Amino acid sequence: MIIILIGPPGSGKGTQSQRLIDYLETAHLSTGELFREHISSESALGCEAKQFISRGELVPDHVVDSMVAQTLEQPRFADGCLFDGYPRSVPQAEALSQLLNLQQREVTLVLELDVPDSVLVERLLARQRADDTLETIKHRLEVYGAQTRPLLEYYKQRGKLETVDGQGSVDDVFGRIQAVVNQLKTDSSESEESNPSTCSN
Ligand code: ADP
Repeated sequence: MIIILIGPPGSGKGTQSQRLIDYLETAHLSTGELFREHISSESALGCEAKQFISRGELVPDHVVDSMVAQTLEQPRFADGCLFDGYPRSVPQAEALSQLLNLQQREVTLVLELDVPDSVLVERLLARQRADDTLETIKHRLEVYGAQTRPLLEYYKQRGKLETVDGQGSVDDVFGRIQAVVNQLKTDSSESEESNPSTCSN
């Protein structure tokens, strides 16, 4: 399965991703984490990305897309993965779709974590990461609205989108995510049973 988790900064995307990869025993691809690793090792990519991240801007698509393409080549991603923080714009979604097409794969499910802006600002100010100042937080929320929100419509039109209420405790939210994922598993095993030839081909 290839699952994409989309949510504004502070929506609990990182926490829920961790829970979900443990539950599904799948690989995790977080572009935010990859960038933080590059920044701390002071790689050329890290230096380039840092200027954008510290301003609350998105790192340019070609930089992110090639980092993701390279990462996906690792064997641990062969059986699927959970994307966390990627794609973050419609052009990135198109780049991902092309990449997966080449491997005869496609996105299975897109999960949106829905949380109101007022709750997000409160949560982000409490977590004290280097790029979490009030100014960058506000800007990241604007960037989310302008560049990432259109992705929801993109995946909705393709019948991939499921929206989950991101408010409440970590367990509450994860319970809702589990319900969606379990339903998907049931649906796919039922369609295999009713059409077993798709497996043997
Ligand atoms: P958050 O979801 O809290 O914004 P992330 O850890 O996902 O945090 O990302 C941190 C920063 O890394 C983003 O604000 C952005 O600058 C950059 N970044 C991460 N993923 C992408 C991406 N897919 N495209 C462009 N920039 C990205």
